[in-house]
Amino acid sequence: MSEATRPLRVAVIGAGPAGIYAADLITKSEEVRSGAVEVSIDIFDRYPAPFGLIRYGVAPDHPRIKGIITALHKVLDRGDIRFFGNVEYGKDLNLADLREHYDAIIFATGAIHDAPLPIKGIDLDGSYGAADFVSWYDGHPDYPRTWPLNAKEIAVLGNGNVALDIARVLSKHADDLLVTEIPENVYEGLKSSPVTDVHVFGRRGPAQIKFTPLELRELSHSRDVDIVLYEEDFEFDEASDEAIQTNNQVKTMMKTLTTWLTDQEEGEQTASRRLHLHFLQSPHEILGEDGKVVGIRMERNKLDGKGGIEGTGEFVDYPVQAVYRAIGYFGSELPEVGYDADKGVITNVEGRVVDENGEHVPGLYATGWIKRGPVGLIGSTKGDALETITHLLEDRENLYTAAEPDAETFSDYLDSKGIRYTTWEGWHRLDDHEKALGAASQDAKGESRERVKVVDRDEMIRISRGE
Ligand code: NAP
Repeated sequence: MSEATRPLRVAVIGAGPAGIYAADLITKSEEVRSGAVEVSIDIFDRYPAPFGLIRYGVAPDHPRIKGIITALHKVLDRGDIRFFGNVEYGKDLNLADLREHYDAIIFATGAIHDAPLPIKGIDLDGSYGAADFVSWYDGHPDYPRTWPLNAKEIAVLGNGNVALDIARVLSKHADDLLVTEIPENVYEGLKSSPVTDVHVFGRRGPAQIKFTPLELRELSHSRDVDIVLYEEDFEFDEASDEAIQTNNQVKTMMKTLTTWLTDQEEGEQTASRRLHLHFLQSPHEILGEDGKVVGIRMERNKLDGKGGIEGTGEFVDYPVQAVYRAIGYFGSELPEVGYDADKGVITNVEGRVVDENGEHVPGLYATGWIKRGPVGLIGSTKGDALETITHLLEDRENLYTAAEPDAETFSDYLDSKGIRYTTWEGWHRLDDHEKALGAASQDAKGESRERVKVVDRDEMIRISRGE
């Protein structure tokens, strides 16, 4: 069938920001708006609810970022893009199933696992990946309901925004998180935490941090948590001076850090919890006893003048009972799609999926973190999606290949396979239910909460399907 006679059928795998932006940008493209191309887009997610990283990756006390959901919500509310939740690529549907019904498939599955850190002791009880902890506190349906929060002293490895997120959540008083949508089990878990000290370690210097200014400044907003810095870590080389002079973000953050350092020297620190920021230290070994974390051995580094570091051979041991590595996320391999195991991305050229010979696999595309790796703020994903969908539309002449391109038959097909999929109407039901749970509970000031998340997968499905 030719492009003139039927809509181009596009499947997007992953209903996080990357997938929704890609779907939205197709509908807003010149080709579609001018009527030259008609499209019919279905967006899939393995979870019963949409919004991916925003629902399950953004910290609950970041309502501004969570607010992106409002924009994504509006896109799916229009009704021209269908949502199928609780449908997993590689389990419920394989590539042949999708090719039968769609002309093009865009993978937007993100990067949800922790990058590995191959040091001694990493498998000890009490050593965790930040991504797993984030999934727990964000009420991810596939994670256990309890998290072992029994450490008084905690190490967080990494100097990116994820390290800041988890250090903030670990050090905050649970009652101060009740204004957010955290589920009951997360509140109870955090409430029981005996934590007094959270140590965040960066392997490079203060001028090489990967935090962003707003997120760094926010650390000082936590009630009853003092920030502790160490004068000896404030070592600057030529590359640091240049970064401070030429990069406004670095300059701003340096001002924040040095102000905190001065304030700390001048004032008294009386909070019951402390958040320490250490620089120029690399994790060397996690120390254990009886299979449990009892400390971390860090190697002190010095700057190499070019923005990098050299180990000094000098080691410092810190007593900690838990270690969280926040050293970056990593994308997982998908069945039947080329994968670069070093980078954790789908093999692609500007969003066109390629095979081992570098040839474009017709009809397959990638966008977001699974395309370019887990870097950049959520907004950067839009540019990425634009590049991918531009190529898809350029290729469209050769894309009309689906054998069963009728959109209506697809839900029958899912029914025939016994898949308990959720829909956009279902999300509205779950959304209303979570808001009602919020209205019925109270924060520490006695005010009703905006939302309380449903965590259990079956319960999410039942509510969404109105069962
Ligand atoms: P990231 O920004 O890439 O930071 C990773 C950190 O881990 C870096 O400090 C890196 O140090 C360090 N690291 C890597 N390997 C290490 C090792 N072997 N030993 C010690 N340290 C190591 O990654 P991220 O924090 O996962 O964040 C991912 C993206 O999401 C970023 O773009 C981030 O801004 C964004 N994000 C934004 C927010 C927000 O609130 N706006 C929240 C969360 C995430 P080097 O620099 O030396 O490599």
